[in-house]
Amino acid sequence: MTPGNPEAGKQKYVCNLCRCEVEFDGEMPDDFKCPRCKTGKENFRKVE
Ligand SMILES: [Zn+2]
Repeated sequence: MTPGNPEAGKQKYVCNLCRCEVEFDGEMPDDFKCPRCKTGKENFRKVE
């Protein structure tokens, strides 16, 4: 059994307000709130 690439399904986002970085296995949930400043998904951008 090969582990494959563990980063393959990861999506990294950064908060535009407080620069907090979060990672998800896939897309960010619609109801996600920033753990630091409590802003919503609309204030995050995806990190490539
Ligand atoms: Zn934030």
